[in-house]
Amino acid sequence: MPSKSKRRRAKTSPKGDANGDHLVLPVMPLRNSVLFPQQVIPLSVGREHSLNLVKDCEGSDQQIAIIAQREAGTDLPSPDDLYTTGCAANILKVFDMPDGNKSVVIQGLFRLRVREFTQETPYMKAVLDVLEPADIQDIRSEALVSNLRTLIQRVSELANYLTAEHVSVLLNIEDPTQLADFAVSALNVTVEEKQKILEILDVAERLEKVTVLYNREIEILELGSKIQSKVHGEISKTQREYYLREHLKAIRTELGEIAEEAEEIAELRDRIDSAKMPEDVENVALKELDRLSHIPQASAEYTVARTYLDWLVELPWSVTTQDELDLKRAKKILDSDHYGLEKVKKRILEYLAVRKLAGNQKAPILCFAGPPGVGKTSLGQSIARALGRKFIRVSLGGVRDEAEIRGHRRTYIGALPGRIIQGIRKTGSGNPLFMLDEIDKLGTDFRGDPSSALLEVLDPEQNHAFSDHYLEVPFDLSRVMFIATANFIEYAPPALRDRMEILELPGYIEEEKLGIAKHFLVPKQLDAHGLSRKNLRINTPALRSIVRGYTREAGVRTLERQIAAICRGVATEVVSGKHKRRPLAVAPKGLSRYLGPERFYLEAAERIRRPGIATGVAWTPSGGDLLFIEATHMPGKGMLKLTGQLGDVMKESAQAALSYLRANAESLSIDSEFFAKNDIHIHMPAGAVPKDGPSAGVTIFVALLSLLTGRKVKNDVAMTGEITLRGMVLPVGGIKEKVLAAQRAGLKHFVLPSKNRPDLSEIPPHVRKRLTFHFVTETAQMADLVLTAPRGRRTRSRGKSARRRRA
Ligand code: ADP
Repeated sequence: MPSKSKRRRAKTSPKGDANGDHLVLPVMPLRNSVLFPQQVIPLSVGREHSLNLVKDCEGSDQQIAIIAQREAGTDLPSPDDLYTTGCAANILKVFDMPDGNKSVVIQGLFRLRVREFTQETPYMKAVLDVLEPADIQDIRSEALVSNLRTLIQRVSELANYLTAEHVSVLLNIEDPTQLADFAVSALNVTVEEKQKILEILDVAERLEKVTVLYNREIEILELGSKIQSKVHGEISKTQREYYLREHLKAIRTELGEIAEEAEEIAELRDRIDSAKMPEDVENVALKELDRLSHIPQASAEYTVARTYLDWLVELPWSVTTQDELDLKRAKKILDSDHYGLEKVKKRILEYLAVRKLAGNQKAPILCFAGPPGVGKTSLGQSIARALGRKFIRVSLGGVRDEAEIRGHRRTYIGALPGRIIQGIRKTGSGNPLFMLDEIDKLGTDFRGDPSSALLEVLDPEQNHAFSDHYLEVPFDLSRVMFIATANFIEYAPPALRDRMEILELPGYIEEEKLGIAKHFLVPKQLDAHGLSRKNLRINTPALRSIVRGYTREAGVRTLERQIAAICRGVATEVVSGKHKRRPLAVAPKGLSRYLGPERFYLEAAERIRRPGIATGVAWTPSGGDLLFIEATHMPGKGMLKLTGQLGDVMKESAQAALSYLRANAESLSIDSEFFAKNDIHIHMPAGAVPKDGPSAGVTIFVALLSLLTGRKVKNDVAMTGEITLRGMVLPVGGIKEKVLAAQRAGLKHFVLPSKNRPDLSEIPPHVRKRLTFHFVTETAQMADLVLTAPRGRRTRSRGKSARRRRA
């Protein structure tokens, strides 16, 4: 572009201190930037030297030289601090700034190079050579120009500092020199790099260098945008979720759910606060609450967490009752609730006294053992009442799974704490009287051993931090007073049995039942039915008839039910207008009206009407009971048939008894040919009830002996004992219950193995008095003890013919 450079030269030549191709011009140092020809830029001028310069040149045509500083930080640059190549410029406009500085708009004109500095103050002046651009019209530069244009566009796409205006100006510049200068001045590169471009006179070379800078910039920008888009991707995912969640929140706020939820959380926080939990438990609760506040209410997880928190806040962490350990009062309460049971009551009072002195730690765990309905539960209730403690009874009957004691882990659906923690929550007290009912019915199977969990519950070393699988936080059970009950303590797990002090309640005899009925059950039932002694009186003979004819139990449950039935009947009659004036007196005869026909009778006397029937006694979970054994024979080949749901042990007893009889037929006066021609059938009535155990041995033997000798068994004798093939009688268990059963059934004699003699000491004297005990060591002793007297040879042969007839 010769014309343009000519214009520039024409413009420059007359100004300044020109001398040939060089000029003498004031020099203004420039920080942070480089001025290119044709470029118009505003400068903020504040340094003293520069202000001096502007003041001198302002308003005149004086051109100045703008030269970049090597270091931007130099405040008062000397000639050495400046580059040597710069740009001539016109001052287009000068503005005064409020702070005393000036804003100067300058326009770049052409390149200059310093020859020498001639002045430094009040501003620098230098002799400068005008630098002419080399010829630029060649193919190479055209290609470079078009390439540069593309790059400019690309940069403008990637970088926002190159605005659309920049781009349109740049793309309209046709002069390659100008394009290169403009392009580099617009680029985001260092002063040093710009300065290098300024110093290049060869235009093609300059274009090349600028192209390199542009390419580098594009690379940087593209890399940047790649990283950016990756980062953006990550962010946008979280942002999306955040956005959706915020939306959800907004919707739920609209629906009022958030407020509800916040209220619920706040309420739970209050409840945690007032539950006064131990610190570590409270921390767990608060953590769970925090989790809860982030879970949507409709989710299943919310319900799980919520239920868990409910359990935590509702447990009586710090609620206990104050014990009232007044022995006199306790005795009064025990007496006012229970008839008799003197020994047990005395032991309970001793227990309470020790507790008062030694505190919780040393006291063993009481266990009430006895058949149903003997007052185990009600004794527990009385103790609780005496102590002023809450009472809870939890049945362990049929518990086979450890988790029933210790709870299921929360990961199970529908998990709950075990029965212990459930019981504690029900009472709402941290120190209730906790009755563990029927510990003898605990089972063990593949689901773990509940008794070991129970051991932990009862062990004072461990139970201060009992861990329930559901709760996961320890609960202090050491304040709880545990009392266990069992029907048959022998069946309770041995480890548990060792921990406990057993108080036996073997069952009541008739007199005791009458006392209980008169003093407790009748008044209680009258009260329960809205009646009083003014409406109904049940006399003693009537009560005795109920005991004998309508109940057969060790305890008094059925008795109580029968009394209740009478009360119900009478209540109906009272309401319908009968018995207005006088109280109704119920006598034995009147019982059937309310209770129907008698169900029980003195069975032994009724049943034993012929040879071949014997009365045994069996232990059952509800105490003892009579066990009748019937034997008969029929023509056959010596087979033995057994019926009545007998267990294996009992069947073997029967076989042993028969073998013994056959082996000793002669000495027992039995026709030895009998066995070859007859089959024998042994049956135990109540065929629907399974029976087993060895203790029916002697009874089977006696039944067979009676059958074979034709001598009836005495109808007031009960017997028990195991037999051996050699005719020995071995000891058996459950003597106490069996004796009581015999006594209840009105029997007078009780035959038992000699080795069981010590067991009688456990039986209350008043019961013992009513029976005559006979001890045997061998079956041979039995015959004369339990069979009616033989009636001479005639009787025996008559017996034979009688048998034949029956056969
Ligand atoms: P268990 O727990 O031994 O099965 P309960 O304690 O439930 O028996 O007793 C059954 C009923 O008999 C209760 O109403 C109880 O008050 C009453 N009872 C039992 N023994 C006596 C007693 N010695 N004196 C007064 N009532 C009794």
